[in-house]
Amino acid sequence: MRLGVFGGTFDPIHIGHLVIAQVALEEAGLDQVLFVPAGVNPLKVGKAATPGEHRLAMVKLAIAGTPQFAVTDWELRRDGPSYTALTLAYIREQHPDDELFLIIGADNLEILPNWRDVERIAELATILALTRPGTDLQASAAAAGAQLAGLRSRIRLVEIPGLDISSTWLRDRLVKNRSVAHLLPAEVIGYCKENKLYE
Ligand code: ATP
Repeated sequence: MRLGVFGGTFDPIHIGHLVIAQVALEEAGLDQVLFVPAGVNPLKVGKAATPGEHRLAMVKLAIAGTPQFAVTDWELRRDGPSYTALTLAYIREQHPDDELFLIIGADNLEILPNWRDVERIAELATILALTRPGTDLQASAAAAGAQLAGLRSRIRLVEIPGLDISSTWLRDRLVKNRSVAHLLPAEVIGYCKENKLYE
């Protein structure tokens, strides 16, 4: 199986996430995309995130209608920061015969050379990097390759019409009681309301 691994804070999950997962699935001929909500994002330490159980529940609601999408709560069950290299090593153990693809947006490709154990990440998975407005995808790939020999050959770029939205912007809209219709799946909007998230 060709397995996509898609980590994120998903606070909350939005159409930017869902669209890149769907395009990655098709462009790289993946059989499944596994969403991995982050426990503690090492790059967001100190920033309060919504409790993992809620972020996980929202991912479940968002992917329910797509048979090729699945989710694991592995990072949420672990203590400490969620390092991608550890997560990929765990997934490799669980799926020894699968080929792994790490799905990231261009903003993360730009900082990938600074991630812990990036060489190990590139050994374990092909990196599928997708357009995200605000970061030049091609330039980030070239810079990553220049910083670390061998990395460029493990990166595959997938260009899409950029969706310039973030969870931060959506949280802000929710707090201000502005509509987020069409930006989050309706079930996720209902979940936020029922559980008084982002108020
Ligand atoms: P926040 O605003 O809270 O920092 P975010 O919207 O960037 O959150 P994350 O959960 O941190 O979302 O992102 C998970 C992954 O999805 C990252 O690899 C990120 O690059 C990618 N991603 C998120 N939003 C988009 C988008 N609009 N277009 C392309 N990639 C995206």
